[in-house]
Amino acid sequence: MALTEKQTQELHTTIEQRRTALLAELREDAERVHKDRFEDLAGTAPDPGDESVATLIGDLNHADMGRDLSELRNLEAARERLADGSYGTCMECGGDIAFERLRVNPAAARCIDCQSNYEKTHASPSSLPGSSL
Ligand SMILES: [Zn+2]
Repeated sequence: MALTEKQTQELHTTIEQRRTALLAELREDAERVHKDRFEDLAGTAPDPGDESVATLIGDLNHADMGRDLSELRNLEAARERLADGSYGTCMECGGDIAFERLRVNPAAARCIDCQSNYEKTHASPSSLPGSSL
């Protein structure tokens, strides 16, 4: 069943709120990275050990930002679909995405069936649920 206007409005609000929160997080992350870099530059002759820890922290920060950035990109795509009227339609099969699914993940671009199919074909073995490791 296609989304009602009320449901679309509710999801729109959720997307806007999530997007605002994400942007705030990313801004904080970016400030932290800048601050770290500044402290690196201001530090007195760091030895190679300190430098590798700083690099690691930098990489972790970037990894965090990467996750947030990809979520932000998904939200931006969802906003575009809201604007052009294709929101709530599965990008794979063209079917309707269930409202309950969109409530949990408003940036979802695939219906449940296509998403589980996608995860089966794209998931890395280490992240499969039920792994004996
Ligand atoms: Zn589908």
